[in-house]
Amino acid sequence: MNHTRAVFAEINLSNLQHNYQQAKQHSPNQVYAVIKADAYGHGVMLVAEALKHADGLAVACVDEALKLRTEYPKLPILVLQGAYCGEDWRLASVHNLVMVVHHPQQLEWLNEVDSYIYSPISVWLKVNTGMNRIGARPEQVNAAITQISALPKLKLDKLMTHHSSSDEVNLEAAQLQLQNFYNINCDLPTSTANSAAILSGLNAKDDVSRAGIMLYGSSPFAHKSAMSLNLKPVMGLYSQVISLHTVKKGEAVGYGQRFIAEKDTQIAVVAIGYGDGYPRHAVDGTPVFVNDQPCKLAGRVSMDMITVDVSECEGVNVGSSVELWGEQVSVDEVARHSQTIAYELFCRLTPRVPRCYTYIG
Ligand SMILES: *Cc1c(COP(=O)(O)O)cnc(C)c1O
Repeated sequence: MNHTRAVFAEINLSNLQHNYQQAKQHSPNQVYAVIKADAYGHGVMLVAEALKHADGLAVACVDEALKLRTEYPKLPILVLQGAYCGEDWRLASVHNLVMVVHHPQQLEWLNEVDSYIYSPISVWLKVNTGMNRIGARPEQVNAAITQISALPKLKLDKLMTHHSSSDEVNLEAAQLQLQNFYNINCDLPTSTANSAAILSGLNAKDDVSRAGIMLYGSSPFAHKSAMSLNLKPVMGLYSQVISLHTVKKGEAVGYGQRFIAEKDTQIAVVAIGYGDGYPRHAVDGTPVFVNDQPCKLAGRVSMDMITVDVSECEGVNVGSSVELWGEQVSVDEVARHSQTIAYELFCRLTPRVPRCYTYIG
């Protein structure tokens, strides 16, 4: 494909490795790198390659795991949602995947394919300690353990849970979930922490912590910046100015005339829009760096263009470089201005944006 359009995402794999090391430093034992959803939109194969010395990888489903297994025959691969059907169990056995069990129906599916399973499958039992999404309730766990232990094709390895609120200033709800979890009377090794819990020190008893968003250099907390956590940005999103003009005081810019110039204003038009994954909900004032200087979004995001107030900015021309997020504009700031989180901005980048990969750091 010909890439003459200026939009691209640069993925800094050295910074990714740095962030994994940060997760390791905050963890007592192992850290699995969560690379579901195409490594949070960063491109799973190159991200996995950069993290091939991680203790293990975690993905959402068997489909995601199989792509990785071909390249990494030995790495532990945890499937966070476990089986959706009998075939998933058969594939897990053939490809040595670690499967989460969160519902008794999954054991029924195993039953359907039992005769096709030759080597036992490692499973982690998921406990619902307060998220109330998936998992066995604490009072059901001992019965579930008994049931799984009776199945010769399964090997129960760990007990796990997932936080609903480990990113909050007040960690009471998170502590309560851990209390519910550790009150369960069993001696399996455990896995509880996501990025926020890792960075809050809630993972002291974890055998395996599960780092996702922090690997990609975004802060899981609304109240702490990535930089203050010593996380480095991994994705930089770039484009260029394609038009430059002045609007007069009182004139409006873009769809719906949302931005109205309070004075004569120089507007740079940048070739990026929601067709690339730049959030349409971004408000006026969302930070954008043009020609290495801080500027503000002015007017609604279009499919292929945005408009930026560059009145205070020097040396801007057609062709000037623009950073939408990366080293200079924190992706978390852009997310805040669009009423979302960096997780979603990363995942929403569209296939129109070419990814390029570097090791600089
Ligand atoms: C996605 C996911 C994680 C990683 O969460 P982050 O907040 O990105 O660190 C951990 N555990 C489970 C079960 C997940 O689904």
